[in-house]
Amino acid sequence: MKSLEIKDTYIKKGLVKKGSGLERTIVEVGAIKIGGPEVVIMAGPCAVENEEQLLKTAQIVSEAGAAILRGGAFKPRTSPYSFQGLGLEGLKLLGIVKTKIGIPVVSEVMDVREFDNVSKYADILQIGSRNMQNYALLKEAGKTNKPILLKRGMMATIDEFLNAAEYILAGGNLEVILCERGIRTFDSSTRNTLDLNAIPLLHSLTHLPVIVDPSHGTGRSDLVPHMAKAAIAAGADGLLMEVHYCPDKALCDGDQALHDDEFVQLMKDLSKVAKAVGRSLYRPLLAV
Ligand code: PEP
Ligand code: MN
Repeated sequence: MKSLEIKDTYIKKGLVKKGSGLERTIVEVGAIKIGGPEVVIMAGPCAVENEEQLLKTAQIVSEAGAAILRGGAFKPRTSPYSFQGLGLEGLKLLGIVKTKIGIPVVSEVMDVREFDNVSKYADILQIGSRNMQNYALLKEAGKTNKPILLKRGMMATIDEFLNAAEYILAGGNLEVILCERGIRTFDSSTRNTLDLNAIPLLHSLTHLPVIVDPSHGTGRSDLVPHMAKAAIAAGADGLLMEVHYCPDKALCDGDQALHDDEFVQLMKDLSKVAKAVGRSLYRPLLAV
């Protein structure tokens, strides 16, 4: 087997923030530290649909202990006839809900031309699986000082994933969070195959925080809790999960969305798993 050797400079373990003495990068969003001892939970709908949906979901996930609200305003959809996201209107809703609830937001940027708009409203910019090798977007991400949540391409090797991150770091932005979200394999019984190997492997190769998205990784809400627990046990620095108050009515990815109650229960279970492996969940002040 070919051993992985990352030849480039910035992502390699030990080269973080030269001279800082830090072994790992910790991405800070306000008081939240991604890549530190605590596990950071990011949750919310796949897509921003309307203010009521977003506000309700934000309240539920933050009270249950999620630190960051997710929600796509620009959605990469396989079919051009599927809901494409609310665009700028969706970003504005994220801005409103963020202020009302006091929770930071992660949202996807799909196009270099939308970079400034998404940056205005989101605290973390997501570069999705389909754009992991969109080099123009990666270079733009390198120029900003906003944290970037970079998702693994659905067909990307670890080497390709790290090189995509390298583009951002080489451009001058060291605030990168890697996200394993499942890859395509020969098996079509689940949407993707969640590669949990990637967590310890990426930690051994790079100093960057590694989070896991069990929603896209499985495509099935009944599998999400199991893989979320497994990801924490395998050392993930955080989780990104989709939650909807009525998954049957979701405009996007309803099959993999946890219902509010399922999410609340899962947070309790994740807390126990974290404790069992000597960690804890980051608790926002809002959490009960
Ligand atoms: C998402 O997070 O909603 C998304 C589209 O994810 P991915 O890029 O992993 O498919
Ligand atoms: Mn989704």
